[in-house]
Amino acid sequence: MEKLVDDCLFCKIIRGEIPSYTVFENDDVKAFLDISQVNPGHTLMVPKKHIVNLFDYTKEDVQQYLQYIPEIANAIKKAFPNVTGMNITTNNGKSANQVVMHSHIHFIPRFEGDGLKL
Ligand code: ADP
Repeated sequence: MEKLVDDCLFCKIIRGEIPSYTVFENDDVKAFLDISQVNPGHTLMVPKKHIVNLFDYTKEDVQQYLQYIPEIANAIKKAFPNVTGMNITTNNGKSANQVVMHSHIHFIPRFEGDGLKL
């Protein structure tokens, strides 16, 4: 594990200092359930390196950390057979509503007629 930050919430989750429900994990990324589910299965994927947001990704970071998006999306879809779609989003910067300053991808499963307004 490289370059984690002491007082970062998601670095603490990666280090196991704060509990989370793991959905997927390998040497590069961890995916865990969002504590405030906007829909069942709402998951966050974080790189195991403290990167603030997409503005700071190098081409190598993109390749290393974002390659798992389809795999994680499909794992969530498989866990919830009624999933018919998924919003995969990321907030970058305070004015874009980024609250936790450790890059994360939201996976929000969608169900027919769920009425969720994002
Ligand atoms: P926003 O709250 O606007 O979605 P972010 O894109 O920065 O801002 O997302 C941070 C996400 O982290 C939120 O969805 C929030 O519910 C989630 N979160 C905060 N604390 C925890 C935690 N301890 N475990 C899991 N998810 C968390």
